[in-house]
Amino acid sequence: MPASTLDQLVSLCKRRGFIFPGSDIYGGLANTWDYGPLGVELKNRVKKEWWKTFVHKRPDMVGLDASILMNPRVWEASGHVSNFNDPLVDCKNCKERFRGDKLLEGKLGVEAAAVLKLDQVQPMLVAEKIPCPACGKVAWTEAKKFNLMFKTQQGVIEGEGSDIYLRPETAQGIFVNFKNILDTMRLRLPFGVAQIGKAFRNEITPGNFTFRTREFEQMEIEYFFDPEKQKWEDIFAAWKKDSWNFITETLGVAKKNLRLRDHEKDELSHYSKGTTDIEYKFPWGWGELCAAAAYRTDFDLTQHEKFSGQELKYTDPDSPDRKIIPHVMEPSFGSDRITLAVLLDAYTEETLENGETRIVMKFDPKVAPVDVAILPLSKKEHLIAKAQELYNKVIQETNLVVDFDVTGSIGKRYRRQDEIGTPKCITVDFGTLGEDEKQGAKDTVTIRDRDNLKQERLTVSELIKRLT
Ligand code: ATP
Repeated sequence: MPASTLDQLVSLCKRRGFIFPGSDIYGGLANTWDYGPLGVELKNRVKKEWWKTFVHKRPDMVGLDASILMNPRVWEASGHVSNFNDPLVDCKNCKERFRGDKLLEGKLGVEAAAVLKLDQVQPMLVAEKIPCPACGKVAWTEAKKFNLMFKTQQGVIEGEGSDIYLRPETAQGIFVNFKNILDTMRLRLPFGVAQIGKAFRNEITPGNFTFRTREFEQMEIEYFFDPEKQKWEDIFAAWKKDSWNFITETLGVAKKNLRLRDHEKDELSHYSKGTTDIEYKFPWGWGELCAAAAYRTDFDLTQHEKFSGQELKYTDPDSPDRKIIPHVMEPSFGSDRITLAVLLDAYTEETLENGETRIVMKFDPKVAPVDVAILPLSKKEHLIAKAQELYNKVIQETNLVVDFDVTGSIGKRYRRQDEIGTPKCITVDFGTLGEDEKQGAKDTVTIRDRDNLKQERLTVSELIKRLT
């Protein structure tokens, strides 16, 4: 069961070391979040699976890690300076600011709200009597365009010429390196470039935990192809399928909580001819999880050719006189938003036979932050030493992430491992030591399954085989 309220998950994340409020000891900084020891393992695994699926397991893909700071001309060429705007409305009563289109989504639906023209937003808010979420009054100003890019200054001299932006998407780092990659990697179309990195947007209404923040991380792919040799519709369909499979099969997010949504014509970004999002059923309703595929045409490379004066064409190896600007398909994922969906989807409350409630994070074992926990049954020194011996063996002979926990009763330790989603717990007891046959035979341990709670007795060598 996904968390019915976000609060339960936020509280578990803080309690168990997944995600903490940013700058906590200073009273926080609104809408910033820090990944704790378990959160960083989980998010790293999501990223690792993505890289493995889309870069290492495909002969047609390579990776890149470009700078966050880029020449400001990049953002003129890409259209972000003139087009990357949200409709901002102020409440005349309490002066709070909101995104007009988001306020209207509940009444009009996501699609209809997204296609409103700037001058339609305020009249629609008034006609639909949408109150200010902060003070409850309906007193909206005209909508204004608000550019979402974070501006800062480079160097020691402030003023004209030193303005620079934090990148609002990672994609442009790929486009500006297109020629470098082409010249060095001996690639033939179609091929793709993948990148994971931070992006920044001065969102008007961040919120819902890590769903919408001003600093976040993207995992983006630009897939270049020759539109005369391949139909964009085929590449679009293939990426939609691959993105869907990554979320469902690789990360194990339940299909019943996911759906595909095609963008309406008017809703498409300035560069796009077709976009399909994957949406997740968040506790507050359906919301974009990622763009499964967006067809960006040859817009970006053409613009960069124009603005940089550099040729960004590809020579057709079959007819060297033919030079083209490739077209591009873009699957775009947010690692924070996907990690949030993975957390929500894993969150389960179960009633046990004895009537107690068990909270368990049912992560797919591929992304669980800890693979296995080794737990000595009690705090007796020689038992801890035996368990420590097993811990050393497992970390040396496998690539698993192993937790070793001696604190508190065994029941409490199982509860903690359930709440952090550890798929297997190994208990070392007096049977293991050869001191109590009732607990088990010498040199055997108990392995407990997180999901069905079944316990089995295995020898140490069987255990290592089972775990790898
Ligand atoms: P939204 O409509 O939610 O603002 P978008 O359509 O602007 O999202 P894209 O530009 O398509 O988002 O970005 C691709 C992905 O990056 C999104 O699907 C999401 O996973 C992630 N993302 C975008 N903005 C944010 C944000 N402010 N916080 C966290 N993740 C984000």
